[in-house]
Order: sequence, then C-alpha cells, then structure tokens
Amino acid sequence: MIELKTCNQCQRDLPLDQFYKRKASKDGHTAACRDCQSQRGKQAYARNREQRLAQAAAYRAGRRDYYRDYCRDYMRERMAEHGKATLAAYHGDARTKLDMTARTVLAQMLRGQIQSSGYFDFTSSQLQRHVEAQFQDGMSWANRKAWAVGPIRPAREFEYQDKQDIGFRKCWRLANIGVRYA
Ligand SMILES: [Zn+2]
Repeated sequence: MIELKTCNQCQRDLPLDQFYKRKASKDGHTAACRDCQSQRGKQAYARNREQRLAQAAAYRAGRRDYYRDYCRDYMRERMAEHGKATLAAYHGDARTKLDMTARTVLAQMLRGQIQSSGYFDFTSSQLQRHVEAQFQDGMSWANRKAWAVGPIRPAREFEYQDKQDIGFRKCWRLANIGVRYA
C-alpha cells in the first residue's frame, strides 16, 4: 500500500515521491506537491522579473527625462548667449554696422536697384561706368560673382563713425572704389 499525502495547494492525494523532501517538516516532505511547488516558483520568478523590468524601465525613463531636460536647458542657454553676442556685434560697434551698410548699399547701386543713396555722392550710373572702366581681363557684368567692388585704400585706414564724417566721404568717394577678382 503506497502512502498518500494530500497536497495543501491542489488538494490531490498523491504518493510521497510526488512531494519534494524537506527535513524540517514532520513527514520529511513539503506541504505542496512537486507540481504546485514548481508552479509557485515560476510565479515567484515571473513576479520578480516583472518587478525588476519595471524598475529598470523607470530608471531609464528617469535618465531620459533628465537628459532631455539637460539638453533643452543647455540649448536655451547657448541660444541666449549667441543672441546676445550677435546683437552686441551689430549694435555695439557703430562703425562695423556703418561699413556693412555701406557695402550693402554699394552692391544695390551696382545692380541698379537704387539710383542714389544718402551714403555716397555718386549715382548708380556713375558707379557702374566707373567700375566698368576698371574691368580687368575677363571681367564683365556676366560674371559679376567673380569680382568684388570696394574701397581701394581699405576702410580701416579711415577714421569715421558716421556717414557725414569727412573720413567716410574720403573712403567711399568714387575715386577710392576699385574692382578686384573675389
Ligand atoms: Zn499540488
């Protein structure tokens, strides 16, 4: 007669060899059968695994948020600094701004977009004739991008802060406007 034991989980009556050995128990076997024990082990493992995966995901999400915020703040700071520097370069130096404008107006007059300006005492037509007379080998209106127009004696050698200053008028007079290959 085989000795049977009732599993405390599935309530089946099973032979003792269907239970794991456990010395601490009165009959030397676990209260739950092998099937139930391994089932419980699997469940515990699955629960544990889910917990660990959730923890890892939460950690990664935290890192991701931290990194995203870090990048956003960094970019905001950089943009703010860049904006300040650009504005300072434009507004801070009146002379640089004036020279930039003078070159822009000169180019517009050369293209005939404007006939005259408050900057120079020559007209667009006078400028075009003056420039054309200085064309070197190969220069023509067709290859406008190949050459550049500007002060022959460089602007930096003249002293002025305003377009009314005598230095400005000397620098940007027609006789000082030259043509060279770019
Ligand atoms: Zn069982």
